[in-house]
Amino acid sequence: MHHYHKLQELLNTHPVGAPKSEEFIEILRLLFKPEEVELALLLDFKLKKANEIAKQAGISQEEVIQKLEAMADRGAILAKIVEGEPAYALLPNYPGLFEYPIMKGGDSDTQAKLAKLWQAYYMKHMAAELSLANPPWLRVLPAEEALTEDFEILPFEVASQMMAKAKKIALGNCPCRITEKKCQRPIDVCLSFDGAADFMAERGIAREISLDEAKEVLTRAEESGLVHTGSNNQNNLLFICNCCPCCCHMLRLITEHNNPNGLAKSSYLAKIYTSECIGCGICAEERCPVKAIEMKEDIAIPNNDKCIGCGLCVSKCPTNAISLIKRNNYEFPPETVKELSNRVVKNKEIKRNKKK
Ligand code: SF4
Ligand code: SF4
Repeated sequence: MHHYHKLQELLNTHPVGAPKSEEFIEILRLLFKPEEVELALLLDFKLKKANEIAKQAGISQEEVIQKLEAMADRGAILAKIVEGEPAYALLPNYPGLFEYPIMKGGDSDTQAKLAKLWQAYYMKHMAAELSLANPPWLRVLPAEEALTEDFEILPFEVASQMMAKAKKIALGNCPCRITEKKCQRPIDVCLSFDGAADFMAERGIAREISLDEAKEVLTRAEESGLVHTGSNNQNNLLFICNCCPCCCHMLRLITEHNNPNGLAKSSYLAKIYTSECIGCGICAEERCPVKAIEMKEDIAIPNNDKCIGCGLCVSKCPTNAISLIKRNNYEFPPETVKELSNRVVKNKEIKRNKKK
């Protein structure tokens, strides 16, 4: 079997998945040079020190570091210092192989090829694979402007509070809007935290920013009608994306791929006080990303089953007719990323076995 096919199989062992396809092999060819791919096959999703990789490869540590550093600079693998020594790991498709090389930018011809290949790969394979995740990989964080103290606010749902826990924050460009180009919404709104922020800032994939600047990003995103989403676990967030319904690979699971559970909903729902509604249609036509509001006889009617609790409809209502209320039977997210991954793996197996 060709090395690139072996690498696809190895990447497919990650809980996020990396299904077999011609497009993905072409993506791997663009991200890993022929002389690098054998070395990549010695990596794991856990960090491995350079001296161990050198022993396995049977080449000098210097040569190993030189090759792996070049791959890390491209955003094709992860690099970190562990106990004073360089260490490397494979990246999953999300967040990782899709995002980092596109966010890094560079040669426009390669970027254009990558964009086209990821578009096709997502449509043919990856959207279905991401849809298998139960619980979903990402969850909606309500717009800060829509949160009031009338209801219990769960600390892990307040994006600014979660960001305040991070030791490092990095800001990068949205790979979904760069590749899809279906809207004019801002692209410089992708926030990463701690370990991911370290790596991304060090490799020029994103830049380090302050907490105040990160809060401004949230405000700008809300103003532009972007949905805050974060990794679907309660403790430290890995990232906050600001998603549009037309380009985002995750939000499109709902808007395009008929999977209402493609993202975990927030603990809120939109409530519309119809006596206050003047029928302007802003909430339904301009703000709601998932078409959860219908205009009936000039009155806005929300659909509780569709509403993801993003709160984007609240701030732009000219008569303050909308507020967020608590959702019944809210399902709490897993506490940690590990718990989230374990549950996804278990449920994917159950789904696949049922299909057999
Ligand atoms: S934005 Fe407010 S006033 Fe306008 S349709 Fe929606 S609820 Fe009614
Ligand atoms: S109705 Fe639409 S915009 Fe409003 S909170 Fe629900 S999903 Fe968000």
